[in-house]
Amino acid sequence: METWCEGVYFEPGPNKPNLAGIILSCGIHGDETGPIHLLQRLHNELQLAALAPSRPLLLIFGNPDAIRHQQRYVDSNLNRLFTRTPSPQPVAGESREAARARQLMQVCQRFQQQVPQVDLHLDLHSTIKRSCIERFALTPVHSGHYSDRWLGQLWQAGFGGLVHQTRRANTFSQFSLDVLGADSFTLECGSLQQSDEPHDQRLWHWLVNLVGSEVAWHTKEPGGRQQPALRQFTVAEEIIRASDQFRFLVDEGLPNFSQHPPGTAIYQEARGTFTIDEERFSLFLNSRVETGQRAGLLLKHLQ
Ligand SMILES: [Zn+2]
Repeated sequence: METWCEGVYFEPGPNKPNLAGIILSCGIHGDETGPIHLLQRLHNELQLAALAPSRPLLLIFGNPDAIRHQQRYVDSNLNRLFTRTPSPQPVAGESREAARARQLMQVCQRFQQQVPQVDLHLDLHSTIKRSCIERFALTPVHSGHYSDRWLGQLWQAGFGGLVHQTRRANTFSQFSLDVLGADSFTLECGSLQQSDEPHDQRLWHWLVNLVGSEVAWHTKEPGGRQQPALRQFTVAEEIIRASDQFRFLVDEGLPNFSQHPPGTAIYQEARGTFTIDEERFSLFLNSRVETGQRAGLLLKHLQ
């Protein structure tokens, strides 16, 4: 296993031609310890050769400074700093996270040059609040070509929901889709309130299988199997904190995926009250963001 820079490890995999690579990342937010411990365990097993990878792998611990301090970030939110055209040189006055985002984009592109294709990027996170669907995945904004074939896999790993994002943001998974052409997901692996063990066992076994198995794991389930019961959502509205007068009219402490019937007044702003006409499910509600930033999402159920 090669160390490419702090917290970035390259595993070339077996000496066979044309093997697509995968990227696993965690710790983009330094306080999300569950996924960090999971990938540290994976790193240990690979280093000890207890696990033999079946394909090239790039393992990333996103924000080492923040991980050391067990805080979300040091200067700014790293998961808003990935761009389509990364600057190759340091930018004057850039934050620690901006420098790290640049470095991570560079190592991903270096990885891309070593493999015929980057097949998959999974960026592991934890939610701040609890969720009615304990584990769920989010896609970056995509053209709709790839999600279906992953449903069975996500379900096997214990993910009960899939949210299709509709508004582009400068996230790591958006970068890996746009620039590397990888099928990428942000995986919310549980909440910060939960202890790491033992609820990660199912995810752990799935990750070991993902890294170690030679089976063409991303192909569709054979016919006749039951369809997975994974619930799918699309983002209907993005809630922006537009001014200091912003406040939620629903309890923002409610768990993620709380259901709101038509006619519910969701929030109040200087220009009035926002009321929904159709049923919506709330996600990531948080009024304590900077003005102009996203204070939450309202989802539409797709099934
Ligand atoms: Zn996170």
